[in-house]
Amino acid sequence: MIGQDILVAEDEVKIAGILRDYLTKVGYRVACLERGDLVVPYVRQKQPSLILLDLMLPGLDGMEVCREVRKFSEVPIIMITARVEEIDRLLGLELGADDYVCKPFSPREVVARVKAVLRRVYAPPADKTLVAGDVTLVPETHQVLVGGHELKLTPCEYNLLKTLLSHPNRIFSRNELINVVQGYDFEGYERTIDSHIKNLRKKIAGCLPGKGVISTIYGVGYRLKAPSGK
Ligand code: CA
Repeated sequence: MIGQDILVAEDEVKIAGILRDYLTKVGYRVACLERGDLVVPYVRQKQPSLILLDLMLPGLDGMEVCREVRKFSEVPIIMITARVEEIDRLLGLELGADDYVCKPFSPREVVARVKAVLRRVYAPPADKTLVAGDVTLVPETHQVLVGGHELKLTPCEYNLLKTLLSHPNRIFSRNELINVVQGYDFEGYERTIDSHIKNLRKKIAGCLPGKGVISTIYGVGYRLKAPSGK
């Protein structure tokens, strides 16, 4: 499953702690921030998979944070608000949040919402053709075309490429990619990912000499570069 790193932006330490405990228990990695003005730089640097964002935050309020994040990122955002009446107003503002929860909430319900949003956002439709620059992947026929040539990929390479292509320019950590290839490769080590990526690059370079389609983000992971920011 893609989507492992959750950012909880909540200044009520007790609530943040409860969310962290519940989310950690079901396998997510969780970071917490207590100030709104710290969220944007964090998201730029760490690219979390989802943000749980409290509306009332010191530094910068949740609405402003949401607007700022949307200027550069499509990361799913679940807004947390203290009043149910707020939700209608927030929906009207079209902030680009993916879901809303109201305090007091049941932590189980929040976990269910997180899972649902991540599933919706990160699972590409099975039959949608994915295109970025010179690379095209057709899930229906399992074909990969690079610069007009068909590539023969192993199942691991195919799934890695499909994942990278599903969100061009998004950085995927090695851990996220390990989850993608699990089931094909029981030795899900980070180095295994590196060698699959190396092979994938070699095959792509065979059709597109001199073009580095997959970039390494040192210490973080990989991404597939797409022209014009798409
Ligand atoms: Ca608050």
